[in-house]
This record gives sequence, C-alpha cells and structure tokens, in this order.
Amino acid sequence: MQTDFEKALTQVGKKGFLDLDVPAGLDLVAEIARLKQEKNIVLLAHYYQESEIQEIADYIGDSLGLAQAAAKTDADMILFAGVHFMAETAKILNPTKKVLLPDLNAGCSLSDSCPPPIFKTFREAHPDHLVISYINCSAGIKALSDIICTSSNAQLIVDSLPKDQKIIFAPDKNLGAFISKQTGREMLLWNGACFVHEIFSRQRIAQLKIRHPNAPVIAHPECEEGVLQQADFIGSTTQMIKYTMDTPAQEFIVVTEPGILYSMQKESPHKMFISAPPDNTCACNNCPHMKLNTLEKVYLAMQYELPEVTIPQELMTSALQPLQRMLDLSKQFGLGG
Ligand code: SF4
Repeated sequence: MQTDFEKALTQVGKKGFLDLDVPAGLDLVAEIARLKQEKNIVLLAHYYQESEIQEIADYIGDSLGLAQAAAKTDADMILFAGVHFMAETAKILNPTKKVLLPDLNAGCSLSDSCPPPIFKTFREAHPDHLVISYINCSAGIKALSDIICTSSNAQLIVDSLPKDQKIIFAPDKNLGAFISKQTGREMLLWNGACFVHEIFSRQRIAQLKIRHPNAPVIAHPECEEGVLQQADFIGSTTQMIKYTMDTPAQEFIVVTEPGILYSMQKESPHKMFISAPPDNTCACNNCPHMKLNTLEKVYLAMQYELPEVTIPQELMTSALQPLQRMLDLSKQFGLGG
C-alpha cells in the first residue's frame, strides 16, 4: 500500500505538479501561513504571479531582487512562486536546501530559446568573447556564461568591462539590443526572445496613447525595439514600479506582463494603470508559465515538499560562479542586496 507521499511522488513524476484534492472549505491562506512557520519555508514570488500569491509572499521582486533574497535567506526551505529558471537560480545559491516549485511545467519561452548544446558550440566558435547571460536562462546556460545579469544591472555590468572586451549577450536579443544602444557597445546577440514581450502591438499602444495623452508609456526592455521607441521610460519591473511611484503622472500605459499591475496599484492606489494589449484579439499579455502557479499548488507543494527542483552537483558548481559575480557586482553598484 502506497503512502500519501509515495502517491504524491508518482503524480509529480507523471504531471509535474500535485493534482490532489484539497479539503473543501480549507482556508488556504491560513494553511500556507501555518506550513511556512512550521517548516521554516520562505515564499519568494515574482511580480508576474497572480495577486493572491503576491499577497502571501515573504518577498516579491524582480529577478535581481529574488536572487538576492534567495542568496541571503536563512529559511530551511524555499518555495519559489515563479518559473523554473528562477527556482533553479535559488537552488544554485542554496545547494543544500530544498527548493520547491509548485508546477514544474512553469517554463519560459526565452530560456527555451537558448538550448545549452547549441549555445556551447556558438560560444566555442568565439573564444575571445566574454559571455554575459540574462538570468532568464537555464542552469546549463548559466554554467556556460562568464557573468549573469538582469535587466536592473545589465547596463552597469557591460559598462564595467574594458572597452576592447568582445561580448556575447544571451539569450534575449531585445534586451541585448537595448543595452547595446545604451552603452554604445557592439555585442554578439543570441537570437532568443520572450514571446510574451514580443507580441505587444505598436498600433494598439499608439491608439492608447491618443486616448490617454497624459499617460507615460513604460516598457520592459524585453520588448521589441519598435515598441521601446514608443516608451517614455524603459526599465526592469522594479524600476518600472519605482517610476510609477516617483512620477507625478496619474495614469500609465504599462508594457510588460500584467501581473505587475498588482504591485503598482498597491504602491499607488490612487493612480490608474492600463495594461498594453498584444497583437491579437486578447486583452492582455499574461505569461502562461507564470500563471500555472495557484494557491492550491503552493499549499500542496508545502504540505508534501514536492515538486522539488534538482540540478546535478557539477552543473550547480559551474553555474554558481557567474551568478556570484553578478551578485558581487550588484553590491558594488549599490543595487540592493
Ligand atoms: S514573461 Fe517571458 S521571460 Fe518571463 S517567464 Fe514568461 S516567457 Fe519567460
């Protein structure tokens, strides 16, 4: 006879998440709070998570903030409400701790656009180049990189390198092109992209601007250049939130995943945030990977301590160095942490 845990383990193997019944009427928020305390679990959540998850998180942030939070946590276990590469990052920084991801299917189109074996060949073809990889990549790509960056620190990292240093920037071609423009440095760009940020409609943003002439357009640098040209401000998710707090404007057209609106609205309840529409019939650009996490899955993951993110030890060791370089440089630049 299988124990409950063995049943759960089998199910994770088959589905990548726990699809078990949650008792009717269970107060999930209270149960999650209890499990966090009993098991000393820290809940880290990305700004693109559903608002109900952001509400119960111990820390909400962008990729840099989340990596910094993961690096300094003294919790025994980490539950990462985000996507797979984020949980992997937390695991690399905490190799002896259990890192839980409520749904192992929460991948990332950008990370998937850069398969390690192909990237390895590309890198080997340019041995005189230093590799800077955006944190939105797999542990395999991190291990093949010299420095990791996020959209908060990419420009500072590139600027800190000697002018004659040749650079490969992976995997996001849009962020790479933006940083190249900002720094005046030519870089070899990997041809990857995030499909969520690539389908914003220039035409529909232009129409929104006509309807809301006083609303600055604020965009994430993962968007295509044509969209970025329409923006009054370009920055990481944290920088975008700060901009909406510091700027006197009362309404904003927001060009990134709409989960961020929850934190923007919370910080500035009297302001209005308009989510920019994609180039299709949908009203918003939800990231389907981020939205796989639910309160039920968070509760079950804490209860059974599954699904767990695991990475081979050798890969973790190789991926740690470029990640640590980013954290050290961010500290030098005075970027939190
Ligand atoms: S929004 Fe784009 S980059 Fe972020 S997790 Fe989703 S697919 Fe990946």
